[in-house]
Amino acid sequence: MVPKLKSSAMQEWFEQLPGSIGIGNVRYTTSGKCDDTSLLEGTQPITASLYRLKLALSFNGNLVNTFQLRNETDPQFPHLPYTCDSDLICRKLLLELEKSRDLASAVGECIRNIDGAFSVTGITEDGTFFAFKDQHGIKPLCAGHSPEEGTYAFSSETVSLEMNGFVRDFELEPGELVTVSKDGFKRQQIIKNPRKAFCAFEYAYFARPDSRFDGKYVYEIREEFGRNIVREYPEIVKDTDIIISVPETGDDPAMGVHEESGLRWERASRRHRYVTERAFILLNRDRCSTIDRKINILGSKIDRKRLIVTEDSIVRGDTTKVTIQKMRNSGAKKVYVFVTFPRIIGPCFYGIDMATYGQLIGSNHNPAEIAKIIGADAVCYQSIEGLVRATGLSRDQLCLACITGKYPTPLAQKMADEMKKKFLKGYQEKGRIYETCGTTP
Ligand code: SF4
Repeated sequence: MVPKLKSSAMQEWFEQLPGSIGIGNVRYTTSGKCDDTSLLEGTQPITASLYRLKLALSFNGNLVNTFQLRNETDPQFPHLPYTCDSDLICRKLLLELEKSRDLASAVGECIRNIDGAFSVTGITEDGTFFAFKDQHGIKPLCAGHSPEEGTYAFSSETVSLEMNGFVRDFELEPGELVTVSKDGFKRQQIIKNPRKAFCAFEYAYFARPDSRFDGKYVYEIREEFGRNIVREYPEIVKDTDIIISVPETGDDPAMGVHEESGLRWERASRRHRYVTERAFILLNRDRCSTIDRKINILGSKIDRKRLIVTEDSIVRGDTTKVTIQKMRNSGAKKVYVFVTFPRIIGPCFYGIDMATYGQLIGSNHNPAEIAKIIGADAVCYQSIEGLVRATGLSRDQLCLACITGKYPTPLAQKMADEMKKKFLKGYQEKGRIYETCGTTP
């Protein structure tokens, strides 16, 4: 975890590095084993070599056709055992580079033959600094430059460019390769007419509120989500006294709910400043206790009140249940949960760690049943139409797979459909679908 790194140690280490190009990564992997040793081994950037070619690579996303890629690349890489999907994308790019000796052709082969989400940055042995995106552009990746120092950078989110004094220049297009020289960026569209499918969950939960996508700050979109839910559930709004948010991703929608409804947003749910874990990525046993420690409810403010509680999403339902229980214990009379991300009915194959039907409360429960399970009076999800409208994109420019069951890549669709049939018949999944389902394309 980044907060655990000492900045003085980082600085010391940083000063020892030669050269003028670097890549780093703070992604937590959604493939491979989850024990500490494996996570450490899977730390990016990945470096690998094949004959005289060398490559360092860092990526955000998740690969789906891992079985196929392992079969294809294992023989050539006995020295790079598989730990997670980062190895596979590195191996594949090296193999294609070895064949063509041309970065654009090699990237094109990767884009055409890898099923999944991948926003990649990398460095080749001759010092070429590059970045590319899969043909659907599922994960964000933007480019920027530092006006003072003439430095160029890529980042998943605009916020890290801005915090380092960089100016954002552009978001990479799906299927685009960008290389960097001292003269700036060179953009090449490798795949013609790609179908954009940007992850809708970035807007509701994953991205930082102060990042921008297509010129809009994420927090502005989240406020609009809140306004939308008020318009969609007027009867519930009439039966409410105050708004409470689940900090921090519930804060921006709470502002929107307040503006649209005129109800007071009571800041009676406070987040512990020093509990930094994201409950979403913790293992089951730690998640609920983290939420319990992280969120403090100011009891006297909600005693005998009817509440709208704004929440970004309900994945498993266990952490929302803990929060609602705390509100009930403080005397809340009614709890209506306003959820900005529509009901999650299917797994994600593209880098958000919700990769089985069994872990999703929405996969086999309707909103009324979910309300009962988590102890709410009602669960009011934003509609898919409302979400799409607020992003400013059209439906066919977004990935909505986990809320519609329509996956933008073929193998993910096939695996999801096969597993859903089994799941509905009572089959218990044994792990992330893309790691346990040996389907070939
Ligand atoms: S399936 Fe859901 S979480 Fe995964 S990329 Fe698509 S919208 Fe995002």
